[in-house]
Amino acid sequence: MKFQETRAAVVRTCITLADQGFLAGTGGNVALRADEDHFAVTPSATDYYAMSAADVCVVRFSDKEQVEGEREASVEAGLHAGVLKARPECRASVHTHQPIASAYTLLARPLEVQDSRHRELLGARIPCVGYAPSGTGLLAARVARAIKPDTNAYLMRNHGVICVGKDAEEAMARVAALESECAAFFETRAANESVALDPSVRALVIAALRSAVRDELQETER
Ligand SMILES: [Zn+2]
Repeated sequence: MKFQETRAAVVRTCITLADQGFLAGTGGNVALRADEDHFAVTPSATDYYAMSAADVCVVRFSDKEQVEGEREASVEAGLHAGVLKARPECRASVHTHQPIASAYTLLARPLEVQDSRHRELLGARIPCVGYAPSGTGLLAARVARAIKPDTNAYLMRNHGVICVGKDAEEAMARVAALESECAAFFETRAANESVALDPSVRALVIAALRSAVRDELQETER
């Protein structure tokens, strides 16, 4: 099996993200650069916990041809190819439907990053890429056009997010930072604005958002 180490790393990354609640069901996918000409990517619609390195697909950048892997590559393989091409210094591209940041994408606006530590990780302003259906060339093209060297996370309207990193660990830290930043955004709004919510429901929402912020801080302090 070619690129075994990279393919095993894709499996480990998916399991870590699923354990943290950033990948729901079979939604979300991970790509890691395998060499100059290829990347490894999660197979389509596969349970992350049942996935093996042999299931992970290897795709060629030049013609998007799948050259390895027992299953069909993720429908977002083209999205990852465009992202990895636009950021040649990055080895990892992670796409999630993480709950709070995905909810933020419904607002269809960029996110101004408030926390200075998050700004360092993510960039100062996270763009929200216009909607296109999952797995389409249109979505891949829109995201590829938005990629900038100083921005490491991208919101995709009514869909989810994509984060890059020099390795899987850095991309995962960015996934967590983005979730925490979006949680802080909603927490501030829920606390300040007189949202028409029963006070006990509002207290519950704020507690859930605060715990999302806290989880990430503990995660990155380790
Ligand atoms: Zn998706």
